[in-house]
Amino acid sequence: MKYKNIIVLVFGIVLFVSCKTNPFTGKKTLALVSNSQILPMAFQQYNQFLSENKVVKGTSEAEMITRVGQKIAKASERWLNANGYQGYLDDYRWEYNLVKDETVNAWCMPGGKIVFYTGIMPIAKNETGVAAIMGHEVAHALANHGQQRMSAAQLQQVAGVATSVAVQNKSEETQQIIGTAFGLGSQLGVMLPFSRSHETEADRIGLQLMAIAGYNPDEAANLWRRMKANSGGQAPPEFLSTHPSSDTRIANLTAWASAARAEAKKFGVTTFK
Ligand SMILES: [Zn+2]
Repeated sequence: MKYKNIIVLVFGIVLFVSCKTNPFTGKKTLALVSNSQILPMAFQQYNQFLSENKVVKGTSEAEMITRVGQKIAKASERWLNANGYQGYLDDYRWEYNLVKDETVNAWCMPGGKIVFYTGIMPIAKNETGVAAIMGHEVAHALANHGQQRMSAAQLQQVAGVATSVAVQNKSEETQQIIGTAFGLGSQLGVMLPFSRSHETEADRIGLQLMAIAGYNPDEAANLWRRMKANSGGQAPPEFLSTHPSSDTRIANLTAWASAARAEAKKFGVTTFK
């Protein structure tokens, strides 16, 4: 065989073994780093973040974050089980925390590690608004958007560190790569926005999750209207720097709400909070 053919063959095999179809997006995505490699690092980074910030416990707002998080997690599981993806969330270790910080932000790291900042609560406004944000952020995690935000070279570096070194010895640089890709940008002074297509995907998936969890999907568009109204002024919400927003998003969410209700009905959910 000629060299060229061999190279093509090897490249084809590598692509074949490392591509997986994501149940939520239906797309094949390059998975150079597996969950078993990336989750322990994400979990450690999450714990480190919590240890360096003030976690709010026992307030009605903190309890609300946990309650909504549990419902969104349950909705994800129900959807996956109904669509033949039992076990997809086996490696997930769901956790929901409210952190005292006036920054307008919220994120979900791989494996279901969620943080809401107290600063986003006035824009969330109520439990249904929290559910819209939570559904959207969990959707980014479920669709592996964070992994896709990392370049192939960065993924290889992360994989290399994961396989060769104990977690606590991993390099500062690798920590930064993971943090930036999964939402901890503000801690590191780096902002990495999600792409427009990832935003659209997270909106569509998140809307279904919130509806299955029993929250009114019509409220998602209203949440983004409030977010937009807060985008002016001297300090636009940090959330918007990682989540480029547009009127198209509000139009999409409005148009998709009835489909989300129909999806929820398949799970016996017909009334919405
Ligand atoms: Zn987003």
